[in-house]
Amino acid sequence: MNFRSIILLSMVLLTVLFPQSAFAYKVVLDPGHGGKDSGAVGVNGLKEKDVNLDITLKLKQALLDRGYEVVLTRTDDTFLSLAERVQYTTEQKADFFVSIHANANPGSSAKGSMVLYYDNAYPQEDYPASAAMEKLTPYSKDLAQKVLDSLVGAAGTKDLGLVPSAVYVARMGEIPSILVETAFLSNKSDAALLADDAVRLRMATGIADGISAYAPPVFTDLLGHWSRDAVLRMKGKGVIDGIGGNRYEPNRALTRAEFLTLMDRVFKLDSLPASCAYSGSVTGSVYGSACQPAPALSFKDLPATHWASAVFTKASKLNLLQGYPDGTIRPNQAITRGEVAYLFERLLAESAGTKPTVAAPKNAGFTDVPATLWSAPAIYALKSKGIINGYTDTEFYPDQRMTRAEAAALIDRYMSK
Ligand SMILES: [Zn+2]
Repeated sequence: MNFRSIILLSMVLLTVLFPQSAFAYKVVLDPGHGGKDSGAVGVNGLKEKDVNLDITLKLKQALLDRGYEVVLTRTDDTFLSLAERVQYTTEQKADFFVSIHANANPGSSAKGSMVLYYDNAYPQEDYPASAAMEKLTPYSKDLAQKVLDSLVGAAGTKDLGLVPSAVYVARMGEIPSILVETAFLSNKSDAALLADDAVRLRMATGIADGISAYAPPVFTDLLGHWSRDAVLRMKGKGVIDGIGGNRYEPNRALTRAEFLTLMDRVFKLDSLPASCAYSGSVTGSVYGSACQPAPALSFKDLPATHWASAVFTKASKLNLLQGYPDGTIRPNQAITRGEVAYLFERLLAESAGTKPTVAAPKNAGFTDVPATLWSAPAIYALKSKGIINGYTDTEFYPDQRMTRAEAAALIDRYMSK
């Protein structure tokens, strides 16, 4: 296979594996100060807020050129509180945060570049970090070092090193965060550098190159989450994708489309017998299991262009899902824990060429799963196989939406057997 074929094949595979969007890390850039807050004022009269914004806008372009998704806390001369900056950043669900500042010192001799980050090895009692940031020290420090190395290399500034710091924007967020002090406005030669448009561009390019050398943690929103190991194992096996590349959204409800996609990867729906192998006893309108010919796939809310359209076609051939009386299939609707258990047990049996368990034990432990519940046989069968757990020893919550984290844990337990 020649190089060109490999590239083409890789692109096809990426399209298949990441159907929802192309992968790009998302960065929040934060030009320090603004509006009524000028920041430091240079020996040459330069206002820090203006230098920060200009370097940040250049940095934004450099990162866009490198394929990043970039958002800014401010794009003009507006005042924003520190809390507003962090709140905006958290709402953005980005991968990391970079604040751009220029330094000042009462003496005029201090000069050079430094990068601040929150370091959990040096906690400050009066300025506690967010719970998320406490776990992020290695990632913030790695980003800080790469940006500093690249910045001083590009701009020719003095290397003043990394600075563990409890500054607000570096300690209160939920993603790896750094604050770059590009140079000293209080120093004559540094201030001259900051006044030079070509140097600002070199600084921005240097910071962008440092960012390019940095790899954020896989699934930024899973750090410290109970499901992280299971999700990463499943990602390694190609079963699980992120959302927009580098987030997993573990606490969000799993949708019907996402569930079917996972089941297709686990059980290869195409390989299962097309005939209906089992008549269950599902109540409710969502999941039918009567042995009828597979219906033609035409749901008004599932156009052929929908990313999960192909997997719904496979599922409908297996009579796995039926539509609603109003002609919809509701691909984005949440799926409950009981529904997942029922369908998983059925697919498990069909892939093994056996019949699913149809009887529930009389006193099986979950007070909210009586033997008469339609999903009880599947829930108890999966529990006895060690594939599914209750919330407690006595409660299963069959009507509760299954989260994406729970789905990963379920599949992990099954595939680890
Ligand atoms: Zn500043």
